[in-house]
Amino acid sequence: VKERKAFGQPVASFQNTQFKLAELATEVEIGQAFVDNLLSAHVNGEDIVSEVSMAKYWASALQKRLTGECLQLFGGYGFMKEYPISQDYADAAVPPIYGGTNEIMKVIVARDLGLA
Ligand SMILES: Cc1cc2nc3c(=O)[nH]c(=O)nc-3n(C[C@H](O)[C@H](O)[C@H](O)COP(=O)(O)OP(=O)(O)OC[C@H]3O[C@@H](n4cnc5c(N)ncnc54)[C@H](O)[C@@H]3O)c2cc1C
Repeated sequence: VKERKAFGQPVASFQNTQFKLAELATEVEIGQAFVDNLLSAHVNGEDIVSEVSMAKYWASALQKRLTGECLQLFGGYGFMKEYPISQDYADAAVPPIYGGTNEIMKVIVARDLGLA
């Protein structure tokens, strides 16, 4: 985004790009803190099945949305296989599916909330 120009300016100079990347960087930090916290809890032998299910669906959904938002910043080039973001976007479709789909993760969380 710093290199590519649109309307004579780098895409990174548009406030929308700056806000988008600031938001995504913030969400990555939040996700990292959540996962780090769960790792500590796991090492301490705590029962974190519900929280891990939350983290699995939330973090993988974030990855999918994040790569889509970043691909958008590349414009049409983002769709081209020569650009790594294209592969990142395709790869991000898998984590919400494998290891138990995100819908099943939510079933586990709902059960823990006494809803199912
Ligand atoms: C790249 C890749 C690698 C894999 N590696 C492994 C591996 O190493 N070992 C292994 O054992 N498996 C592996 N899998 C399989 C993976 O775990 C399954 O794909 C996954 O558990 C989903 O099962 P399914 O594909 O049968 O989908 P289905 O169970 O048929 O689900 C289809 C859709 O229905 C939804 N759904 C199903 N049941 C419910 C429900 N009760 N409530 C709400 N929605 C529901 C799902 O969320 C999904 O959206 C891998 C899959 C992929 C894509």
